[in-house]
Amino acid sequence: MTKLPAPKPWIAEIHAYVPGKSAGADGRPLIKLSANENPLGTSPAALLARDHAVKPSLYPDPDSHALRKALGALHGIDPARIVCGTGSGELLAIAAGCYAGPGDEVLYVRYGFSLYDIAARRCGATPVIAPDDDYGTDVDALLALVSERTRVVFIANPNNPTGSYLPQGEIARLHAALPGDVLLVIDQAYAEYVAPEDDDGALALAETAGNVLVTRTFSKAYGLAGDRVGWATGAAELIGTMNRIRGPFPLSNSAQAATLAAVEHQEFVDHSRRHNAAERARFVTALGGLANHGLRPVPSEANFVLVLFEGKLTAETAYNGLAAQGYIVRWLPGQGLPHGLRITIGTAEQMNDIVRILRDLAKAA
Ligand SMILES: *Cc1c(COP(=O)(O)O)cnc(C)c1O
Repeated sequence: MTKLPAPKPWIAEIHAYVPGKSAGADGRPLIKLSANENPLGTSPAALLARDHAVKPSLYPDPDSHALRKALGALHGIDPARIVCGTGSGELLAIAAGCYAGPGDEVLYVRYGFSLYDIAARRCGATPVIAPDDDYGTDVDALLALVSERTRVVFIANPNNPTGSYLPQGEIARLHAALPGDVLLVIDQAYAEYVAPEDDDGALALAETAGNVLVTRTFSKAYGLAGDRVGWATGAAELIGTMNRIRGPFPLSNSAQAATLAAVEHQEFVDHSRRHNAAERARFVTALGGLANHGLRPVPSEANFVLVLFEGKLTAETAYNGLAAQGYIVRWLPGQGLPHGLRITIGTAEQMNDIVRILRDLAKAA
């Protein structure tokens, strides 16, 4: 028998990340409401800047200076306390890898973001999962599971795939009750979709607390998922630690050019937020008309709605019925949600279609 390299046992236990699909089972392309991308596309200013980026024969700025300066100015953060990554997903993994390892625990909620499981396991730590509160994040349930082995707590706010949101008071209460040597990672991938007056205070906490890291992304409201750019901010010590192991050139030339222009074009982000808030409200109201068929939307502050199917029409039948009519959404049996579909908020026309198709399917069930 030839010997073969053996992966570390904790790596062998990882189930690879499952991205939102863009085609049906038969390979036919479908309208994609499965990955929370921006239905309005990308800021034209960002697209233009991308075309004029530094030529690809040259290495990019390893420290993304111009982008960090612009982000610092926009959010009132010292650019020295910002680290950029190839998507915020990479930064979540780096954060876990800096502070947790074999024998340690990484804590997050049931129905949390699926990448937390991978981030925890890839550094050999043990994932610990707190029960939800009717699909929302339960601060007391999380705190009850903090042990002397807990090293990192991941919270997505708004959360994916539920869309649920913890207000500022709950974030503050969670932080106040955590030991100072536990890193609290607040993943704000959907923060741009939250009304400014409903801010959860995470950026302010990351400025003053020594154990809070906030992650952000250009993949959602900024409409730049394909350019793979995320950033994180926290205490100088946290950022310095992450800088030690991050990729040497995490952002390409075109990604740096596009995101810099996108930061400077906040009208596009504001327009995306307003579009999303209006269409999400219209969608949730329309779903109210299907409550007698057992359809229940989980209250969402994000650019998607998790719809629970608690009547005769199952999520699986609805998923297949939507695909037959040209739409791919996210069915999540692998995340303990065989009875739910996560539907990204698309254009008004697309949302009208979705409601019409769901209504027909519910009546036929
Ligand atoms: C989409 C998403 C991200 C962003 O991932 P990127 O790697 O930046 O594209 C991070 N966290 C959550 C909860 C998300 O839904």
